Amino acid sequence: MPNAASDTDLLIVGAGPTGLAAACDALRHGLTVRIVERRATRSEYSKALVLHARTLEVLEVLGCANELVAAGQRFSALNVRTSTTARPLRVDLLKRSWGDTRYPFWLSIPQYEVERILEARLAALGGVIEWSTELTSLDDRGDHVVAKLEASSGGVFEHSARWVLGCDGGRSATRDQLGVALTRQDVGVTFALADVHTTSELVEDEGHVVLSSEGVLLIVPMPERGLWRLIAQVPQQAELVSPADWGALVQRRAGIELGIHRLGWTSKFDLTSGVADRFRKGNVFLLGDAAHVHSPVGGQGLNTGVQDAHNLVWKLALLKKGLASELSVALLDSYESERQPIARQMVRDTSIATRVLTVTNPVVRWVRGRFARLVLSRARVQDQLARGVGMLDLETAGLRRLPNPILPAGDRLHDRIDPRVPTLLRWQGRDVMVRPDRILARPGSLPTQLAITARGA
Ligand SMILES: Cc1cc2nc3c(=O)[nH]c(=O)nc-3n(C[C@H](O)[C@H](O)[C@H](O)COP(=O)(O)OP(=O)(O)OC[C@H]3O[C@@H](n4cnc5c(N)ncnc54)[C@H](O)[C@@H]3O)c2cc1C
Repeated sequence: MPNAASDTDLLIVGAGPTGLAAACDALRHGLTVRIVERRATRSEYSKALVLHARTLEVLEVLGCANELVAAGQRFSALNVRTSTTARPLRVDLLKRSWGDTRYPFWLSIPQYEVERILEARLAALGGVIEWSTELTSLDDRGDHVVAKLEASSGGVFEHSARWVLGCDGGRSATRDQLGVALTRQDVGVTFALADVHTTSELVEDEGHVVLSSEGVLLIVPMPERGLWRLIAQVPQQAELVSPADWGALVQRRAGIELGIHRLGWTSKFDLTSGVADRFRKGNVFLLGDAAHVHSPVGGQGLNTGVQDAHNLVWKLALLKKGLASELSVALLDSYESERQPIARQMVRDTSIATRVLTVTNPVVRWVRGRFARLVLSRARVQDQLARGVGMLDLETAGLRRLPNPILPAGDRLHDRIDPRVPTLLRWQGRDVMVRPDRILARPGSLPTQLAITARGA
């Protein structure tokens, strides 16, 4: 039961990928949840297009990784061209040394498919999204938060929750209500993107990066046959409105005839990036794009939001179960102290990668071309690219993912870890605590009482 003053344990604001993942995770832990969404239905935009290995490991715990893998398409290779005429350098992604993950690939899958599958999982867990319902104000009263919700049909009502999770995107009303700043830096680059229907004979599961003198062009495979995502660095005033405009751009930059006959979703945006000053204030948390916005290069945004949710929800569940009440402040604070550095690092890394890809100075571009060929042709660098972008090696404040080797019985180590409570694992002769999010806590990084509580749980 939520505490006496609250209607539910959680109010989740926003049913994008972050809010949906948080809701599924919370129900799995036995928390009571209300999830509200301003839109009337799921967005049809493809937006984020890649799910990474670490995120699939999280979604496996939530119970929907198999459906996602079946609905997506594995990238088999990335072809990098350092100029329009240069021979492509092929990075064979499936042949990399991926190590211990069950998901040794980058998965191409449009965001609306990820949301559809998460919604189905949420329904199976007993959750219901309240569409056309918007958060308009918040009042944190210490042991619960009172939220004002407005339905588009005209109804206005109050809801009280023990905790509120602001998963309401880059223009977050939750963040505004908290008075938390997210200062956006202008990256100084404009991107146009289009999902294009083609008669192309390009290999269906390979991506292309073309570093042309006009600007970078990314050609990304989508699971539907003949459908590709184009992302192009363009001048701010550029107008790309027809299949012919896009066809000509691809022809000029990549020398490829895609046979574009129809445009799907198109968009143009100036890149900005930033991280919220705080990820938690009192009983209210910011997750996903509400907490960090950044360049789409590397496809980290959606993935990071899902991982934010997974970092936070088990902590709230432990507190609800009374297993860690003496540690409540440390546990609640640990969400920000663990996730904010990861967000900052991601914003920094994706900004650097974007600058490298979009540089216009001809001399610097020449140097970049030579350097890229030299570095990217090394197998070790290719391995690091695959696993690094796959978010398997993220480490912060001494916390890192529990390795997932195949065990002699044929299952994997993660299968033996209960994803609801901390587990003590005898690891190379010493006890190591594994958190429910399958993160290894270095001794001392969480108070030892938590391990003792969990051992008795
Ligand atoms: C044009 C574009 C292209 C992108 N391309 C990529 C890409 O290639 N790779 C990548 O990783 N990422 C990409 N992204 C980013 C990616 O889409 C986001 O990182 C991801 O959607 C974040 O998920 P989220 O759930 O945190 O936020 P969102 O998906 O923004 O979801 C927030 C939800 O909250 C709802 N909401 C807002 N305010 C309220 C309120 N007051 N009350 C109730 N509900 C509310 C919104 O309607 C929305 O459904 C792109 C984004 C855009 C816009």
